[in-house]
Amino acid sequence: MKQDLIENDSLSVKKQTQAGDQSASLDLTIAAPVDETVDAGHRKELSELLKNIEWLKSDDAGYCELCNATIPVARLEIVPHIRVCINCAAN
Ligand SMILES: [Zn+2]
Repeated sequence: MKQDLIENDSLSVKKQTQAGDQSASLDLTIAAPVDETVDAGHRKELSELLKNIEWLKSDDAGYCELCNATIPVARLEIVPHIRVCINCAAN
């Protein structure tokens, strides 16, 4: 009887170890290197986005950098890192 208890304990410890191994390999998958081109693109977009956060705090916020026209909020919601109106972006 006592022997059975010991075996059960070691079995549950083994199961816990296996679960731990699975999460360890999951961490490796998340930390896996991403494609450098994709990474560079995201970094550029992020830096433009961060610049625009500063811009949005300033008095120039919401006005086209080139023609000073008002940039619709809907446009900024779709392309948050943009600083020119739709007309200037097309030119
Ligand atoms: Zn413009």
